[in-house]
This record gives sequence, C-alpha cells and structure tokens, in this order.
Amino acid sequence: MKKISILGATGSIGVNTLKVIKSLGKEYKVVGLTAGGNVNLLVKQIKEFQPEIVALMDEEKGRELEKKLSKCKYKPAHIFYGLKGLVKVATYSKSNFLVSSLVGAVGLIPTLEAIRKRKTIALANKEILVMAGEIIIREALKYKIQILSLDSEHSAIFQCLRGEKKKEVRKIILTASGGPFYRYSSQNLQKVTVAEALNHPTWSMGKKITIDSATLMNKGLELIEAHYLFDINIDKIQIVVHPQSIVHSMVEFVDGAVIAQLGIADMRLPLQFALTYPCRQKSNLPALNLEKLNSLSFDKPDFKRFPCLRLAIKAAGKRGSMPTVLNAANEVAVDSFLNGKIKFMDIPVLIQYAMNKHKLINNPTLEDILEVDSWTRNKMKEVIN
Ligand code: MG
Repeated sequence: MKKISILGATGSIGVNTLKVIKSLGKEYKVVGLTAGGNVNLLVKQIKEFQPEIVALMDEEKGRELEKKLSKCKYKPAHIFYGLKGLVKVATYSKSNFLVSSLVGAVGLIPTLEAIRKRKTIALANKEILVMAGEIIIREALKYKIQILSLDSEHSAIFQCLRGEKKKEVRKIILTASGGPFYRYSSQNLQKVTVAEALNHPTWSMGKKITIDSATLMNKGLELIEAHYLFDINIDKIQIVVHPQSIVHSMVEFVDGAVIAQLGIADMRLPLQFALTYPCRQKSNLPALNLEKLNSLSFDKPDFKRFPCLRLAIKAAGKRGSMPTVLNAANEVAVDSFLNGKIKFMDIPVLIQYAMNKHKLINNPTLEDILEVDSWTRNKMKEVIN
C-alpha cells in the first residue's frame, strides 16, 4: 500500500495528485498534507482525505485553521506549523511516499529529510535539483531511494530508458512547448504583460512555472534536472521546441534508434505513472487521438530571444554553486515580474547580473548552498529596489 504525503497539497500539482489518488482506489492512502496559506482548500482536503498529519507553512493562519477544524467531524491527529511542520509531514513515520511539490528553494530541507527517512520521492519541485542536485542525488544513492520526476519530460525520458543500458544512450531530446511567446519578436517580448505571460498555450500549471515556461527558463531548469536524474552530461541533452506538447521527450540510442513517449498534455499522466510505478493502472483520462492531430513539429530553440535558456546552460557548465545562483535569482526575478516591479525581459538581465557578481564555489556543502541562495536573493532585492 502506498501511504502518501504531499508537500504543497493546495497547489496545482497537489490538487491534481489528489484527483489521481481518488481515481486509483484503496491501495493509495493520503496520510499527510501541507499547505502554504490556503486554509479553506486545506480544510476541504482534510475532510475528504482524512490525513493523519497536516502542516501549514503560514503560522499566522494557524488560528483560522484550528477554528475551521473545530467544526469538522474529522480532525488530523497531528497539526504543525512553519518549515518545521513541513519537515514533520515529509518525515512522518507512517508514510512511505512523498509528493514533493512545493515551489522553489523552500522544498529543499523537507525533501532531503524525507530521503534520509527512505521515502520514495515523486518530485515536482525541480528548483531543488537545480540548487542542490549533487547533494540530493548523493543522498538518494546513499539511502537507496528512488526519485521519480513528475515533470512530463522527465517522466517520458524515464519511460524511454526502462530496460535500456545507460552506456547505449547517445543523447536525450528534451521537448519544449516554447511557451506563449515563441513567435514573438525581440521588440514584442519587451512589452509582454503578466496576464499574457500567465496564459500558457498547452499546459495549465501554477504561476511560477508558467512564467518560467514563457521565458524558457523552465527548459533550462529541466535540462539541469535531467542531467542529475539520469546522470548524463549537459552536452548530451538536446532541446527541441515542439509546440503541440504531444511528444513529451525522447531518447536517442547509439544505433540511431529514437524512442519517444507521447500523450495528451495533462499533468495527471506523469502523476499517475509515478504513483503506480513500477506498475501501470487503468486511467480515466481521455486517450491521445492521433487522427485529430494535424502535425507534430520540431524546431531549434532561439537562444537570442530567450536568453534564460542560455544562462541556464552556462550555469550548468560552471557547476558548483552557479546553478544555485541561477535558481535563486530566477525565483526573485519571477516574483518581481508577477508583482509588477520589473519587466518581462528584465528577468534574464537580472539573473545575468547575479551570476556575474557571484564567486563560484566548487563542490559546495549544504551550508554553502543555503548561504549562496540567501546571498543571491539579497543581491537581487537590492538591485530591484
Ligand atoms: Mg516539464
């Protein structure tokens, strides 16, 4: 039986995970949930899924949660607050499977602690692999736990690699939708508004990842994610723009054969794959209708108009603490864009600035990484204000 805890239950991944769990039946039990500050939705989820342990990141909303729960028939046995609360849920002894779907660096410590308690990790929180990939993979190997990516691309690559030998892989072909502005000129990119950037053509997701998809930073983060998850050199990962988001990624082998995984653009597909792995289970999602597809197209990404992609590759090449800077600078820049403080095309300029100012640390420890992360955030806030 899979006893599941979800970090970030009220976010887009969390909500969809709960939908999938509900459709899968009795072998899947929700034991832990965490939320940022969305008390109403959390209470609704508590009533429906009856978790044993719950944590709320926003401690100030604790009273509101307690008040709402006092009127409920069901109350979780354990309720915690803040980052410590997230760690309690992530490491809860009665769960064996963690859906790590927080957004950004905040998920690092709870996920690492869960690895050390030997939970299987279903990872949507790709930022933590970018900021501390070497440490996470080292710990996963040490504690012999599996990390299953919830990213459609990485789920696809994982499926293409099943039963294959690593040394027979020539390259990984990572597909990118291109986001809403793929055909925009450099001039028009300067005028992009928040509402336009939040309107993704093929995927319905949370705000941070939707902006990352529009700048193509998401693909840069995914490149680094693939590098760590599949232990493959950055120069063996090719990015191709595939606007239909039907081919979720591909693997090319030494004999020239290319294996692709296809499916509809719905995050519940990779979610269900991770939850049921190593088995497959019947799904109630619509099937892929090939006859309705006019064509599938593949194109080179434009590094000039989308400099975030170039910056991600540069950070990955420098290794050490540079991807940590890339990730933290991007988080602050995206947040500032969403709050109207900077323009869309300021995002790469500011990330480049932080990367230029940073003194590289090779083989950083966890302490180094946390320090570099906060240094970068301060540097970014300073220059934005
Ligand atoms: Mg993805």
